[in-house]
Amino acid sequence: FGGIVKEPPLHIIHIAVEMAPIAKVGGLGDVVTSLSRAIQDLNHNVDIILPKYDCMNLSNVKDFQFHQSYLWGRTEIKVWHGKVEGLSVYFLEPQNGFFSVGCVYGRANDGERFGFFCHAALEFLLQNGFNPDIIHCHDWSSAPVAWLFKEQYTHYGLSKARAVFTIHNLEFGAPLIGRAMTFADKATTVSPTYSKEVAGNPAIAPHLYKFHGIINGIDPDIWDPYNDNFIPVPYTSENVMEGKRAAKEALQKKLGLKTADLPLVGVITRLTHQKGIHLIKHAIWRTLERGGQVVLLGSAPDPRIQNDFVHLANQLHSSHNDRARLCLAYDEPLSHLIYAAADFILVPSIFEPCGLTQLTAMRYGSIPIVRKTGGLYDTVFDVDDDRDRAQAQDLEPNGFSFDGADVGGVEYALNRAISAWYDGREWFNKLCKTVMEQDWSWNRPALDYLELYHAARKLE
Ligand code: ADP
Repeated sequence: FGGIVKEPPLHIIHIAVEMAPIAKVGGLGDVVTSLSRAIQDLNHNVDIILPKYDCMNLSNVKDFQFHQSYLWGRTEIKVWHGKVEGLSVYFLEPQNGFFSVGCVYGRANDGERFGFFCHAALEFLLQNGFNPDIIHCHDWSSAPVAWLFKEQYTHYGLSKARAVFTIHNLEFGAPLIGRAMTFADKATTVSPTYSKEVAGNPAIAPHLYKFHGIINGIDPDIWDPYNDNFIPVPYTSENVMEGKRAAKEALQKKLGLKTADLPLVGVITRLTHQKGIHLIKHAIWRTLERGGQVVLLGSAPDPRIQNDFVHLANQLHSSHNDRARLCLAYDEPLSHLIYAAADFILVPSIFEPCGLTQLTAMRYGSIPIVRKTGGLYDTVFDVDDDRDRAQAQDLEPNGFSFDGADVGGVEYALNRAISAWYDGREWFNKLCKTVMEQDWSWNRPALDYLELYHAARKLE
């Protein structure tokens, strides 16, 4: 048949400092992996370049082997290659020890470390004769790729490539981000609403013509309640109640909570001010007052916030030992069990570029309770207030949400959610089924990225 114009596959190279599950700190790590997998599934070629951290769990890397070493400046860089979740990854290990410091972020010289990595990654591409269509970099940490590429490497070779830059969070490294915005051929951020919220920022405002908001998806194979080693009974929307009941009991037993059918509110988050700490605390007390259970899984990079939560944990574990548990750690397996066990996942962020936890919650049949901001606004539609807005997107309402950043707002959403659980179990169970059947995967957003990649290629 004529008429079908098939574009040749693109070659996309991500230069990033996080990648799930081997080097994940937050959503950036999830997105690098899941976006790449979605684009690869559409028959394009994807490679990822990542620092080789000493703290990385290499058991999740298949066919890990030494690839080559090269010199950049006076530093020898060893390159390793392996497969992560079916993706080809090159690991750069500079012999100056920059990535042998026991963590991804958190050193005084992070800027220097990642700047070095970006330059070394471009040098690796050049020295190996790579000729990709797209070089995709992310956040402040690989922002230097955009200008190093344009200022230096387009002249040296790599001339076919276009630079795409994605902002996962504008809070960090705004000056670097502004500079990358100037040099990138196309730029994105991770939801339409966040793209509007940041449009007035001086790092963004001059570049709106090339700036797009594309919602993140989650990887339905990585997050799959029917195929998840960390939960007791596999489930789909067909047996969601059975699966969630078993998960709830397993979680309660694991954490030493009362094994009873109570409304269970889960929180899975980095504990930073962005995530609405005062609202999280208020919701914990309010849930307990209403007879519910709360499980929080949270890691705080700031020791003051960590101490504050250790204190709260001690207080709660003595006053409400059978109904509240704060797990102050980063724990991927436990996060799976909480997504499955919870009736509600609370995400009261002050701002949220996209947010993945509300999407994962829905995949596991948990109802999101969120603040109406950024990607939370784009993906959660209040059962009482957002019927029309949901319908305009061909969706059923799927959660509870609130405006404002005072405790009254979160209470408004939480109270309705818990009341619905107590008073309308049948309705509530149907809601769990509905959210599970919504598609928050990359199916649609991956096509938007492809369109953007193609548009970037057509630029002079
Ligand atoms: P951010 O990138 O701002 O941290 P996102 O919602 O985009 O927020 O992504 C957070 C990701 O990190 C989710 O996949 C969530 O499940 C995971 N996560 C957050 N905190 C923890 C924790 N303490 N233990 C395990 N996973 C966590």
